[in-house]
Amino acid sequence: MRTADKYEDWLNEVNEALASINMALADWQSRWTFDFSREFSAGTSPNDAAEKANRFWWYQQNKAINQDCRKTPNCWLQGECQHCARLFGD
Ligand SMILES: [Zn+2]
Repeated sequence: MRTADKYEDWLNEVNEALASINMALADWQSRWTFDFSREFSAGTSPNDAAEKANRFWWYQQNKAINQDCRKTPNCWLQGECQHCARLFGD
């Protein structure tokens, strides 16, 4: 199988993983471009790539509406997030 075909199959699986959590790859990708080809080259599984992309898009979305987490730079969660609250014990 050619690499381009493999990438297409891989991306289809990413697409399905994202669809299962109600994330439309095409919509999000048109707003904020996630580097899927880099994940493919790095051997990331379709599910892991989907999760990374999901986090990346929410992070960008939160940042765009000024609701990104104030505790940790690059945290993908919103506002005073529970993740960081637990992490920092407050
Ligand atoms: Zn956070």
